[in-house]
Amino acid sequence: MDSPASPSDFVARSCPLGDAPCQFLQELQTLREEVGLLKEQVRTDALTGLYNFRFFSDALPLEMERASRSFQPLSLIILDIDHFKGFNDCWGHELGNRALSHIAQLIGLTVRKLDFACRFGGEEFVILLPNTDLRQAMSVAQRLREIIAITPLVHEQELITITASLGVDEYRGSHSDSPEGFIERVDAWLYQAKHAGRNCVKGPVIESADVKTTVTTEEKDALFGAFGSDE
Ligand code: GH3
Ligand code: MG
Ligand code: MG
Repeated sequence: MDSPASPSDFVARSCPLGDAPCQFLQELQTLREEVGLLKEQVRTDALTGLYNFRFFSDALPLEMERASRSFQPLSLIILDIDHFKGFNDCWGHELGNRALSHIAQLIGLTVRKLDFACRFGGEEFVILLPNTDLRQAMSVAQRLREIIAITPLVHEQELITITASLGVDEYRGSHSDSPEGFIERVDAWLYQAKHAGRNCVKGPVIESADVKTTVTTEEKDALFGAFGSDE
């Protein structure tokens, strides 16, 4: 629902003195645009364009609160690039940065508009999935893992394969599940994924497993569009 118009909304549309063009109105509009840009920058990771850690830290407790009030599921994925220190050592920090943007782009292509994809820090990403239960989140995580593994980074005619490990869990909707506790649970699954050999997804066992793991035609088309040409 739209919020009621504030007095400044009226000021912004017309000059109260009837001046046209109005110097103050123009200045106000410029300031508003700058504030909008700064607001965007404050919540965005400069390298990848995804939401940043600050945004995630604010969004997680809010989404948990919303989920428990509305009895809707909420899931969280933590994604960590495999052997990224080795990648930097082999290819250099600059290409490492490009690899981070490449992974961020793949995450952006795979998750829904309503999901929050954030850079958690370093080579770790988190995806917060409102209205998404564990089964659906496992499916998203498997698609992410697969898309990353099959979409190499192109560098001077070379195709560099990157893999990632992912931990997944669902918010339990109880007050005993704090934001920190929720992150720790998902992080423990990520640890399991690393321990299991990397390039895999770990989360609680789903009883009747019917988890979709393949990349859809739409995703393949989107990938072809984004990475089909030489860089
Ligand atoms: P694992 O498979 O266990 O996750 O191994 P890993 O090498 O990915 O993990 P580790 O924590 O040992 O190393 C993470 C590396 O990520 C080391 C660090 O230099 C690199 N890294 C973190 N942030 C950035 C960044 O912004 N740019 C680049 N190029 N590298 C980064
Ligand atoms: Mg890490
Ligand atoms: Mg890593």
